[in-house]
Amino acid sequence: MRSVAILGSTGSIGTQALDVVRRNPERFKVVGLSAAGTNQELLVGQIREFLPPLVAIADETAAQEVRDRLGDTVRGVELLVGPQAGEQLAADTEGDMVLNGLVGSQGLGPTLAALQSGKTVALANKESLVVGGDLVMDLIKGEPERLLPVDSEHAALALALRGERREDLKRVVITGSGGPFRGWTATELSRASMKEALQHPVWSMGPKITIDSATLMNKGLEVIEAHHLFGLEYSQIHVLIHPEGVVHAIAEFRDGSMRAEMASADMRLPIQLALGWPERLPTGVAPLPLTETPLTFEPVDHEAFPAVDLAYRVGGLGLTFPAVMNAANEVAVMAFLDGKIPLPRIVEIVQAIVDQHEPPSVVSVVHIERADAWARHRAMEIIETR
Ligand code: MG
Repeated sequence: MRSVAILGSTGSIGTQALDVVRRNPERFKVVGLSAAGTNQELLVGQIREFLPPLVAIADETAAQEVRDRLGDTVRGVELLVGPQAGEQLAADTEGDMVLNGLVGSQGLGPTLAALQSGKTVALANKESLVVGGDLVMDLIKGEPERLLPVDSEHAALALALRGERREDLKRVVITGSGGPFRGWTATELSRASMKEALQHPVWSMGPKITIDSATLMNKGLEVIEAHHLFGLEYSQIHVLIHPEGVVHAIAEFRDGSMRAEMASADMRLPIQLALGWPERLPTGVAPLPLTETPLTFEPVDHEAFPAVDLAYRVGGLGLTFPAVMNAANEVAVMAFLDGKIPLPRIVEIVQAIVDQHEPPSVVSVVHIERADAWARHRAMEIIETR
């Protein structure tokens, strides 16, 4: 039995992770849940169902309400409250594993805390690797299986590379469906509505990552994630658009052969793979209807979707550049969701802020936090003075 703490339990990844746990009660025990507090009813239901000894809630008012709703019915559940509660839970939980389903660079602290306290991390928070990849990877030197990707492309790569000799690997291909605006020109994109942007053709995900999928910034973040996770040069990582969303990644070997991982676009697959690693467990996901499954691949339109090139450049620059790109993007995506800027403006703003960044010569958590705060501040300035 593996004991698991789930960070971001009421979000898209968190609820699907709990579904995997529910289907495999003899395999997993939930020993911690963390949530921002925005969906108290769901959180209270999760606490009643899984009875975790530790629960972290970021928002104090929400925590009080959860406490009131639980009343005396749930004893033995300790509440950690405040903005650092998730990180504290990641460090203090008795679990073997922490599944980090948080959104954004706020996920880095809990990832580091969980790894520092000896746990294995199932990582859906790709920003941990984007902004703090070197720090994260330093903590698992020689123990790569303490960090298991819960990103469909990276989980597929982990499978494609399983049992292969590393020196045989030539390059990898990360696929993307192309999002709702595949085939749109740069001019057409300036008229893209929020409703259209939130309708992803293949995946059902939270709003932030759905907008990142519409700009292809998500693919850019994933390139940097793959660089750290698999120790690849940026020249070894390629991105292709694959509208069907069936092949999630491809490993190409020096003999010219390729291993592609195919599966339905369902996040419960990468979640179960990380939670149950190295075993495969029942998920309830249907296998692909192969006779109705065409496979097509096309190059990225770099003019309409400049985010991918930007991410390669930023990844190559390293230091705090990825943290700056990510933070500026988080703010710009929220501004788009608030109706303040058109879609293409997101990446324009990010690019402008990256160009203005003067990085420190070393990178620590403090340097990352400073660069992150600077980029957020700059992004807000640019958005407000448009
Ligand atoms: Mg992905």
